[in-house]
Amino acid sequence: MECMPRGAFFESVSRYFDRAAALTSIDPGLLDQVKSCNSVYRMRFPVKRDDGSIVVVEAYRAEHSHHRLPTKGGIRFSEDVSIDETIALAALMTYKCAIVGVPFGGAKGGVRIDPRTTSDGFRERVTRRYAAELIRKNFIGPDIDVPAPDYGTGEREMGWIADTYKNLRMNSPHPYACVTGKPVAMEGIAGRRQATGLGVFHGIRCCLARAGDMKPLGLTPGIADKRVIVQGLGNVGYHAAFYLQSQGKALITGIAEREGGIFNANGLDVAAVARHRLDTGSILGFPGAEDVTQSLELLERECDILVPAALENQITAANAPRIRARIVAEAANGPVDFEAEKILQERGIFLIPDVYLNAGGVTVSYFEWLKNKAGVSFDRMVSRHEELVKRELVEQMETMTGVDIPGERKDRLIKGPSEEELVVAALEETMIRSYHQLHNIWKERDLPDLRTAAFLYAIERVAESYRHHGIFP
Ligand code: NAD
Repeated sequence: MECMPRGAFFESVSRYFDRAAALTSIDPGLLDQVKSCNSVYRMRFPVKRDDGSIVVVEAYRAEHSHHRLPTKGGIRFSEDVSIDETIALAALMTYKCAIVGVPFGGAKGGVRIDPRTTSDGFRERVTRRYAAELIRKNFIGPDIDVPAPDYGTGEREMGWIADTYKNLRMNSPHPYACVTGKPVAMEGIAGRRQATGLGVFHGIRCCLARAGDMKPLGLTPGIADKRVIVQGLGNVGYHAAFYLQSQGKALITGIAEREGGIFNANGLDVAAVARHRLDTGSILGFPGAEDVTQSLELLERECDILVPAALENQITAANAPRIRARIVAEAANGPVDFEAEKILQERGIFLIPDVYLNAGGVTVSYFEWLKNKAGVSFDRMVSRHEELVKRELVEQMETMTGVDIPGERKDRLIKGPSEEELVVAALEETMIRSYHQLHNIWKERDLPDLRTAAFLYAIERVAESYRHHGIFP
């Protein structure tokens, strides 16, 4: 089904695409093929509430581009889910995968429920029915379309989807490869939970490492002591803030959530804020912090790095003139709309685009999918071998120098990598390599900004793939 959706978020993604596409010499028909959303399944299904009454739930799955299979993208549970939003998010997935070299097409799913007000039982019934609908229409499968978590969903929902698939596709050789972001105990991969936020941290680190880019912003290179405000303390926002603080030594001065924001110029302990929210149901009232009742206002406070990690369209023409960050790091998908981007850039604010910055999630999802297809975890194959090679090296060193390395230190040097260590290292490498690639394209081709470089790179890669495939039949 060819789709022509309307909506502010979709319009922004579409305009970002057109702006970069205008800089290519690609045939307009091929560009249209790259831009078009290939198929959308819109469904409505009944679910029983806990009191036995029936509610009809609306949901979608969009497969944006089949130039690579399977297609891949998260599932969002939110009362604001729409067909336009799902298609826009699916398109971003196509470009994101191309940017970080993940060999998948883009997809996305959305289920229109408010995850905060539903019981666990209701969520499970909705999730399993949604999965069953996808299975019936061949919109899910290890080599077809592989969902993952997104806003409002997590490991638990992915586990239910895997179990539903396994039960309905008994003969599938790799049933767990039908979905990623599963619990580790259900063939998930260590490191997936924090992957997107950790990737955001690495992306910001790469950006701040370039002294030449920081100078015009009036910033010294490096994350240490930079003042950071984060919007959204969910999966992405929490882990991004956590690593910025713990590894980057940044000061998290503000956290904005649904219920309001908190601010402390001396820095907030991210893990303690998350515990406080768990205990009290709100981030407000955190000891030593100022409460900001209008959450969105916190985004306008002065800081070095603003990390919107909640939802799209948070910075628009309405508030962009008041943003006082030097860098806006798009951890969420589409937090800055097209008009706002123009305003921020005119005001000399640097943007790290979502299509690159939050690609850590799909990168590690790719590793999980590979693990499920292979039926073996990566560390199982390399850990012992690495340990033996390292032991020999260390013992040779000891013989040659006549110095014995102390036991604990020696064990650390010798130990083979765990699955999580392998995943974390490969994620870091992907984020670093991709940043430098985009930066080179930006500078070498004299492009206006990093987002244009990212879209241009993605468009050219996807177009090249389509060109080689030719047109069927
Ligand atoms: P999540 O559901 O885990 O967390 C979202 C958080 O944002 C919640 O704590 C929620 O209360 C908060 N929030 C909602 N509305 C808000 C508002 N108006 N102001 C402040 N906070 C608000 O979702 P997530 O998985 O962290 O996803 C966040 C964003 O990152 C989304 O745009 C998503 O598409 C994107 N993303 C997620 C992943 C992933 O792996 N989960 C990967 C790539 C991109």
